[in-house]
Amino acid sequence: MQSHNSPEKSQNLATNSQTPNGTSHKPKLIWLNILVFSITFAIALVGLPVYAYFYDFDVQTIIAFIVATGFCGMSITAGYHRLWSHRAYETNIFIRFIYAIGGAFAIQNSALHWSSDHRVHHRHVDDNDIDPYSAKRGFWYSHIGWMLREYQQHRYSDYKNVRDLQRDPIVMWQHRNYLMLVVLTNFGFPLLFGLINGNIVGSLLLIGVTRLVVSHHVTFFINSLAHMWGSQPYSDQNTAKDNPLVALLTYGEGYHNFHHAFQYDYRNAIKWWQFDPTKWFIKSLSWLGLAKNLKKISEEKINQAIAKQQLNKTCCKLMNLSLPDREEVLAKVQQEYDELLERMTAFYKAQRAWLEVTKDQLVENVEKSNISQQYNELKISWFEQRKNWHSLIHQYA
Ligand SMILES: [Zn+2]
Ligand SMILES: [Zn+2]
Repeated sequence: MQSHNSPEKSQNLATNSQTPNGTSHKPKLIWLNILVFSITFAIALVGLPVYAYFYDFDVQTIIAFIVATGFCGMSITAGYHRLWSHRAYETNIFIRFIYAIGGAFAIQNSALHWSSDHRVHHRHVDDNDIDPYSAKRGFWYSHIGWMLREYQQHRYSDYKNVRDLQRDPIVMWQHRNYLMLVVLTNFGFPLLFGLINGNIVGSLLLIGVTRLVVSHHVTFFINSLAHMWGSQPYSDQNTAKDNPLVALLTYGEGYHNFHHAFQYDYRNAIKWWQFDPTKWFIKSLSWLGLAKNLKKISEEKINQAIAKQQLNKTCCKLMNLSLPDREEVLAKVQQEYDELLERMTAFYKAQRAWLEVTKDQLVENVEKSNISQQYNELKISWFEQRKNWHSLIHQYA
């Protein structure tokens, strides 16, 4: 669900518009979205526990519910988000077809529309008039409120920013047949499973309605919670946050600060121990030969961003402290930062040179060992400076 499909195009922007006599009025309510969200939510909240109390759910239905919820979630995160919105990797027509089905099952509008909204979100993040789900308008608005009124009716059918996706036959097929696919998947899958398993009501309740509600709200958390709750290790240019708990709920999308800093990276979490099943899934596809050209930001750029952010935070803290020697401390911080960056750049340059020579059969062993030694020395030098840098900035943390 996103916005109501209307052929009209008005010129008012997202905010409440002003009437000629100066009074403001809110954009029109989208009753279809309001009804779908509230009815499914009420059924999941009341119907589910009542049914569970009187009849209970069998294990097969519970397993199918988990699989169906994961299918919807990953179709959005791996498909709508990282594949179509950001072109972070490429995959074949079969996988794209699966994502298109999962996206319709999740009822989050067509991939074309979703990606168009999402590209606007990245380009104008936190701009209350343009970002379709600006977190600066509060939790309710960024979570669900933006879909309940015609806030951006003027650009509903404007797909200029997704011309590349208009060349994808799967995207266009799903876009043209979206409503039919929504009905077929949302009634068809639960009914089919219920018929095979012999429990139609239980299946409709759990796999039909509850799965939809869960999959709606966990993905909505990416627009709300992931812009409000957590840390900012890579950038403070926008409200996006990194939060391992949100990542647990959102198939890894909770590492949203990294994502907004490096939106074309197929990863949202970059450490092996961080929970990013969407990344693991895409990587597995590539191992199976089903995905290629996985985009990855260089470690050097990531470390530069981290250092810059640490410098900004430290300077900001120092400006708020009434230290008698603040100017000297600020100069020292800047000097250590410059030194850190210099040694980091020298290390990565040596690393590239070392990787080059190890591949080259024609380079003499003596030269290889010289370059390797230089590389190791620069590594130690950078690590030493990084230690100094950390101890300096932690004094003011
Ligand atoms: Zn975001
Ligand atoms: Zn994104």
